[in-house]
Amino acid sequence: MSSLPLVFDAPRRGLPPTHFADLDPGARRAAVTELGLPGFRADQLSRQYYTRFENDPAAMTDLPAAAREKLAALLPTLLTEVRSTTTDDGMTRKTLWRLHDGALVESVLMRYPARGDSRERVTVCISSQAGCGMACPFCATGQGGLTRNLSTAEIVEQVRAAARAAARGDLGGGPGRLSNVVFMGMGEPLANYNRVLATLHRLIEPAPAGFGLSRRSITVSSVGLVPAITRLADADLGVTLAVSLHAPDDELRDTLVPVNTRWKVAEVLEAADIYAAKTGRRYSIEYAMIRDVNDQAWRAELLGDLLAPRLAHVNLIPLNPTPGSEWDASPKNVERAFVERLEVRGVSVTVRDTRGQDIDGACGQLAAAP
Ligand code: SAH
Repeated sequence: MSSLPLVFDAPRRGLPPTHFADLDPGARRAAVTELGLPGFRADQLSRQYYTRFENDPAAMTDLPAAAREKLAALLPTLLTEVRSTTTDDGMTRKTLWRLHDGALVESVLMRYPARGDSRERVTVCISSQAGCGMACPFCATGQGGLTRNLSTAEIVEQVRAAARAAARGDLGGGPGRLSNVVFMGMGEPLANYNRVLATLHRLIEPAPAGFGLSRRSITVSSVGLVPAITRLADADLGVTLAVSLHAPDDELRDTLVPVNTRWKVAEVLEAADIYAAKTGRRYSIEYAMIRDVNDQAWRAELLGDLLAPRLAHVNLIPLNPTPGSEWDASPKNVERAFVERLEVRGVSVTVRDTRGQDIDGACGQLAAAP
């Protein structure tokens, strides 16, 4: 589509061979038939992949050996674990993956014990691109530029691996069930729109055809690519939208989120409003608290005034340090004052924890260094 801006045209080069997880249910049957197997083998494979989190044909012992051999063609190895690092008493686990062409990405698995009336959550933070082209100066991923888009299956495989790790008890607290997926790892998900959309279908498709995750437990986080937010609203999937705002005024946002020079704060919020109207659910505004940069009282007031009439929730993220950056997180008293200024305007606010900071696994720290 030539009328779409360049950001939708991120490189196609380097994509891996087709994998089972790239395929929708109809295409799975066709692919299996093409291998000379009966169509129902596709359903067995779906059950292995999406409910047992199995990707090794040799382990699929409910299938005859001859079928397993043929099906291996649909299960090329896309992600090879380079290393996993664990912290927060085993409750946070970051994995570095090598892709078929040597590109590196990271994903982070986090367990949040039940508290009060909220149930336990097991969340995986996944990458949608190797690197990122959005160039936000406070984000480690943004500093390295974009290597390439991930294929649908490369994204889905991160989720499968996380679900398997959780089920096997690789996290502190014993075996658990993956409940949430956030597109807050490396990359701008809406710059890899079609593959991210296909991934969302795999995530929400009821088991055994997909992982059967609840729509609202999936969060797509974006710098604010307005046409893509509108498309996602039209797709009507009901997943949660998060917008990385980081400044309420265009002058500062132009520097913190460079794509703001293309789509301004007002346009981004309008697109998010359309999304909220469509889904009936509030969106999140992400705001990294950067000392003396975006944490002033007047910015809190401006942000509060902008958001008060909207179906939005603010998620403040204490800035996580990145190599070579001069910037710091705001002091706690400044953070508290910022929260209060939003709350008096009736805006709901939470402050995100800094999970994984010591293993460079917190928001904005994913650099996939080998
Ligand atoms: N490209 C998507 C996903 C990025 S990561 C997006 O921009 O939304 C998820 C969040 O972490 C984004 O809000 C991002 O701006 C934020 N982030 C990036 N670097 C950070 C840092 N150093 N400290 C805290 N948050 C950061």
